[in-house]
Amino acid sequence: MNVVLSIIIFLSGILYAGEPAEETEFIRSIYQTCLTKDITYSNLGLLCEKFPSRLTGSKGAAGAVKWTKKLLENYNYDRVFLQEFMGPHWERGEKEQAYFIISGERNDLSVLALGRSVSTPEAGITAKVLVVNSLDEVDSLGAENISGKIVFYNEPFAQSHIHTFSGYSESVTKRSKGPSHAARYGAVAVVIRSVGTAMDDHPHTGSLSYAEDAPQIPAAALGYQSADKLYDALQKDPDLKLTLKINSHTFPDEPSHNVIGEISGSEKRDQIILIGGHLDAWDTGQGAHDDGAGVMQSIGALRVLKMLGYIPKHTMRVVLFMNEENGLLGGKKYAEEALINRENHILAIESDAGGFVPRGFSFKGADSILMHLQSYLPYFPPYTIESIISGGGGADIGPLNKSCDTPLLGLVPDSQRYFDFHHSPADVFSAVNRRELELGTASLAAMIYLVDKYGL
Ligand SMILES: [Zn+2]
Repeated sequence: MNVVLSIIIFLSGILYAGEPAEETEFIRSIYQTCLTKDITYSNLGLLCEKFPSRLTGSKGAAGAVKWTKKLLENYNYDRVFLQEFMGPHWERGEKEQAYFIISGERNDLSVLALGRSVSTPEAGITAKVLVVNSLDEVDSLGAENISGKIVFYNEPFAQSHIHTFSGYSESVTKRSKGPSHAARYGAVAVVIRSVGTAMDDHPHTGSLSYAEDAPQIPAAALGYQSADKLYDALQKDPDLKLTLKINSHTFPDEPSHNVIGEISGSEKRDQIILIGGHLDAWDTGQGAHDDGAGVMQSIGALRVLKMLGYIPKHTMRVVLFMNEENGLLGGKKYAEEALINRENHILAIESDAGGFVPRGFSFKGADSILMHLQSYLPYFPPYTIESIISGGGGADIGPLNKSCDTPLLGLVPDSQRYFDFHHSPADVFSAVNRRELELGTASLAAMIYLVDKYGL
């Protein structure tokens, strides 16, 4: 260890120890309890094992709602209830395929339909492939080059960013808007190089968004290595034909639910501190990092405060949102109800960036509140929470900010590995580290404790 690092650790230790003793001691016990007892990890394991596939409208989602409601009831919250809304029901179907044939030999690619994609005819779509890197390139190539072809968005994930969420924002447009954009010029289908950071062959799904002014064409993601394979083959034979088979279905909307549990405030019952994540997950892995981790950390944060005998002044509410992945209707329904019922949320916190070692929080709201929250930083153990910066809070709590102007916080874990797993078959429980997950729970618990104690 170098000298500078030793000094930083030493000074951070003094700072951490230099805050009011009672709070410092309590926060220390939050971290110790999370690290030594099993606050979050086993619950995440059970969720992933029992309901690995939790897309809105599915049996898995309905099962997860029932099971987590029971879990909250077992923790003796003052009130546990469901919030119902009509949500979409899309299923990918089985045997998705993408392949090309060279010299009589079939080359299969690793593929997943994008969420909401329409089906291909049963025999699939077979067509020549046009490689592009951007939506602009589609515009410049025009219908004469695109009509009748499968458009292949080959652009890799923007890996140059230190924070991978910035790379994701830059790269995800081809997934959400690419299909309709190509369809306007007569494309018959779209495949994309997966929006993920790993160079393995797991395809990463995610929602596409069909524009109203374009025909709806099937669209799918290819694993990184499969995208390489297709690209290389096209370099050798630009006339090569790709076959894509998707047999997805869109069913009528289904009753769907947010799961809510709350502990009533002892002094300021009508002021709510919300903590949550989203219960729905793609049907490809187990939704462990996205967002089983956030859901179980939110439950765990209140659980650890209760275990330590803390009696909150404000009402603390854990919300497990449904339908973040393909509609955000759970978040919208929650905000709608909050507005109708004139509920006063003093802060909403979301964990939806993976169960990795926590590094900080991002904030949306007034500068004065941000500065107030930043004054808590010395309470946090060094090397877990290093910053609270302006940014966003989380997708599910966004509508609450829009309709009620609620300040938002989002837990910011280390982002380096998140997009290796995100929306792919690799997002399974074994990809979550117990200590990293529990540190996230502890950070959330410490934050809501401080906000409860000092207000905003
Ligand atoms: Zn998520």
